[in-house]
Amino acid sequence: MGLLSVGGVLIGPEFTYAETLKEISDSLHNTSGFYDLVINGAGMAGFYAAIEASKRGLKVLILDKRTSPGFDIAGKRRLWLNTNGIREWDDAMIDLFCPEGERNEIGEPALSGVARSCYKNELLLFAGSLKKGMLRSLLVNGIDVLLMTDIWGVVVDNQNQVCGVTIASKHGLYFVSCGSFLDVSDGSLFTRGVLGLAYEIKEAGFVVELEGVSPECPNILSVDTSWGISDNCVKLHKGKKFPDQYLLEFRFRVSTNDLSCIERQARLLAAEIGKRLPELSPFLSESKIRYWALESSLSVVGDIDETMFPKGYHMFTAPEIYTDCEDLSSLYVNMRKVTGMMPRYHNDRKGKFVIYVGGKTVFACGDVVREDGFKLPLYDYIPKRLSVTEENVPLLIAGGGTAGTAAALGAMRKGMTPLVVEYFNDLGGTKTVGGVSSYYFGFKDHKLIKELEVQIKSVADTYHLKTTIPRSFYFLKKLSEAGNSVIHGAIVCNVSMKGRSVDSVLLCENGRLRRIFARLVVDVTGDGDIAYFAGAKYKMGDSRMGITQNYSHWDIPFRPKVKNYNRDYDILIIH
Ligand SMILES: Cc1cc2nc3c(=O)[nH]c(=O)nc-3n(C[C@H](O)[C@H](O)[C@H](O)COP(=O)(O)OP(=O)(O)OC[C@H]3O[C@@H](n4cnc5c(N)ncnc54)[C@H](O)[C@@H]3O)c2cc1C
Repeated sequence: MGLLSVGGVLIGPEFTYAETLKEISDSLHNTSGFYDLVINGAGMAGFYAAIEASKRGLKVLILDKRTSPGFDIAGKRRLWLNTNGIREWDDAMIDLFCPEGERNEIGEPALSGVARSCYKNELLLFAGSLKKGMLRSLLVNGIDVLLMTDIWGVVVDNQNQVCGVTIASKHGLYFVSCGSFLDVSDGSLFTRGVLGLAYEIKEAGFVVELEGVSPECPNILSVDTSWGISDNCVKLHKGKKFPDQYLLEFRFRVSTNDLSCIERQARLLAAEIGKRLPELSPFLSESKIRYWALESSLSVVGDIDETMFPKGYHMFTAPEIYTDCEDLSSLYVNMRKVTGMMPRYHNDRKGKFVIYVGGKTVFACGDVVREDGFKLPLYDYIPKRLSVTEENVPLLIAGGGTAGTAAALGAMRKGMTPLVVEYFNDLGGTKTVGGVSSYYFGFKDHKLIKELEVQIKSVADTYHLKTTIPRSFYFLKKLSEAGNSVIHGAIVCNVSMKGRSVDSVLLCENGRLRRIFARLVVDVTGDGDIAYFAGAKYKMGDSRMGITQNYSHWDIPFRPKVKNYNRDYDILIIH
């Protein structure tokens, strides 16, 4: 019984969830086969572009390498905006940034004004509200969204006209067909990479969330030059959750374009600030770092020559940071202009070449992907003839979670120098970035566990760190002290085999493919990704229904335990 014929799917006791998914898929599979527009980056610019293009009737796919839309504000924890320009915001904007449903969670009584979210001249935000509001708006506007998926190439026809993009995810490499492509990646890094343009990341910014801050604390604090902080100062902004919650921002000079190094530098500086909080101000003597941003903001310099773009290729460089409400209104107007002239796509183009960071090759794709419950028109991409950077290491650890960090520490004890590849900028996996901060230790009497927990506690005390941060910082510190490399922000997306052994692992690191040959590969991705790429058999979900546990359904009442709070907001505090 097909959805299209009767407008519904029969779900009853005789149907399992898996069968229902299959029936829905059979009815809806690949209805269009292509997109008018694919957008790289689901930050504010990508979001507005997607909404505007969709309103004009274009079929849009938006992709982001991160776990949610809105990372340029929420992931960077820049949860404040100067109220300048807020009068021009309409109800939809207010509802997106400060929805009615989050009100129960505002624990700072001193807030007032628009949406009861203003403190002095700043509008305060919740990360969870924004991320969920953006995702909801994209979906209800009929826009397809692919998260944790990075674009690594642009496919053109023999007229040098865009006709698709190549993408990488935990599931592998794919091709998706489209008529126009818009790059709104941070600092236009994708465009710079794919066109081979010279650029420099000059400076970066990072935000830590503090608790225990005395309300009299000044909002600009001076630091000595020896701290290595730009302008010799840090700035504080009020948080919305509790009276003593503040967000501390700082900037720092960088001398590399390597994002893993920049993220490491940000965290080492943040922890140093944590250690010296009492020295920074007497109003911070009882403060601790409760969380920190998932990502730094980047100040990128270097010209972009738009005449090098293939036809149908568009780019917009969004501001590194949004300072006030007016910035977002102007961004909205700009994105309306950028998408205003984009045409509908006539799917008559044949991909000839794929242009990617470091090369150009003849394009070839495989079959359309069939997966029940998933109806995006993706085609398998066969990674042949790709000339990508190649490296050799003795030991590659894929995944920097609980198991991956233990494997790395264990290997270090044996005198090895492992290379850890991790999707997130922080180590620790489910137990840290996943937000599982309180833990049941079934086996806590083991010597190694005891030793580890004592050391993590000592890091927490020394650097004034709380929640999951001491654990991820401890791993970072241990690995960097021993000179080990961690590639952050990288997705393991394929392997090559030599007989029955894994010979090399393919990564997509911020839009750039890298192949790493390793004598030994440890698969600690938590999902067996390496094993999957190597061809191991697997089953997904529980044996009865085929469903997996959705962590976002977990109910996590944060401090203070608010009764009857709206669980739809700010639950995914880090996730
Ligand atoms: C809500 C919840 C509560 C829990 N409570 C407890 C508890 O109380 N006690 C307990 O003992 N256990 C608990 N667990 C289980 C425990 O957290 C996990 O067993 C443990 O974290 C698994 O560690 P791991 O290193 O294998 O995987 P993960 O922690 O998932 O680490 C895998 C890492 O690999 C990275 N990765 C994955 N795929 C790729 C890829 N393709 N490319 C690059 N990087 C990749 C991920 O980003 C991640 O950092 C809980 C789990 C959940 C979800």
